[in-house]
Amino acid sequence: MAYTAAPLKVWEECKALTTDYYQAMLSAHAQGKKLAWMGASLPPELIRLFDIVPVAGEPYSATCNFRPHLTSQFMQAADKAGFARDLCCYTRTFLGSILERTSPFGELPEPDFILSIKWDCSTHIQWWSNASRLTGKPVFIIETPFAEEIQERHLTYFVAQLKRLVTYLEEVTGKRLDEEGLVRNVTLAQQATDLWDEILEISKAVPNPLTFKSFLTLMVPAILLRGTTQAVDYYRRLRDELAERVRNGISGIPEEKKRVIWINLPLWFNLNLLKTLDEAGIAVVGSPYTSMWGNIFTKCRPRGPKTNEEFYRFSPPTNADEALREIAKSWMGRSAFSSLEAQRNLLRWLMEEFKIDGVIAHDNRGCKVVPLGQMDNVAWLQQTYQVPIMAFEANHGDPSNFSEGQIKTRLQAFLEMLMRN
Ligand code: SF4
Repeated sequence: MAYTAAPLKVWEECKALTTDYYQAMLSAHAQGKKLAWMGASLPPELIRLFDIVPVAGEPYSATCNFRPHLTSQFMQAADKAGFARDLCCYTRTFLGSILERTSPFGELPEPDFILSIKWDCSTHIQWWSNASRLTGKPVFIIETPFAEEIQERHLTYFVAQLKRLVTYLEEVTGKRLDEEGLVRNVTLAQQATDLWDEILEISKAVPNPLTFKSFLTLMVPAILLRGTTQAVDYYRRLRDELAERVRNGISGIPEEKKRVIWINLPLWFNLNLLKTLDEAGIAVVGSPYTSMWGNIFTKCRPRGPKTNEEFYRFSPPTNADEALREIAKSWMGRSAFSSLEAQRNLLRWLMEEFKIDGVIAHDNRGCKVVPLGQMDNVAWLQQTYQVPIMAFEANHGDPSNFSEGQIKTRLQAFLEMLMRN
């Protein structure tokens, strides 16, 4: 039977939002705005209030990695400049892009300053310090505490760091913090993450109404446009459209036979690999990675005497202090890597509520942090759920050591095992 699912109506909107984001990067200076490079773990809902165009490093690098020719060019430039090949691949990509002075959209404009955060991943300190060295632009760094069970003292520390950031932004832009704007943006950011959670939950439906590849693209505005009305409106439309697809029994792939989860980042330079799964009737219906941009990890975090449900719940802010505290809560809550227990709670949620038949675990050599604890988690999954698991080694953005033939052979064996189960 021919496969007749219509293309998503919001697809073009998603593309337009992403294009506009990078157009704003190109035209920032012509429009009299400041341009900031930064880690994606800094809150754009705060930074935009100072008329700054923020460019988040990880999604930018993923956009480069999506283009195999460009990503190879950037890897070679980073190699030549002496950056180790086992560094974070997003870092190498971005530094390669600086060295080559180009981007997927034309010449890479230099920022006015660079903002960095030491949150889950300390790579960022070196990433942005090197970007600063290569461009001669200043870098400003804040940090967050690392905590499994978040307590008030952790939030107090993070809020103090955010206040340092506000003072810096006031100095470099000459603008005062717009308190009302902050309250509004923080509320919008929460609305978008709530919607993203609802969207992820829609994949519990059988058949799943969307391919994993589409999900990876559709989540981008959650990262880039956090704290804007565009992100909220877009996600509302996406959620409604997906719910309609579920009501009409529309499947993301031609014929869903088995359902799996994907652990760790995808291979951005070869998303077509996912087509092999689609064609075999294997739907990827969830991933800890796509869950990182909602509140799911917050819900999965360990609870203790000082961190009950109320503590984690969003409290609509009424002033700047409360808004900064909500940023700290939401940022620290969704940090996945400081807690193996939170990771397992999330995996349990996926395994038990999404009707999962198997697991694909990418042992990602391009990232220093997301694979932490992964092999232990894979062993735990095997013991607990006794489902077929395929683990493979690759790099999310560097195609140089990737053998498509080898992975496809492994995938074929995994598919046969899944079908037998
Ligand atoms: S979390 Fe991984 S991919 Fe992200 S910056 Fe750190 S090392 Fe790189």
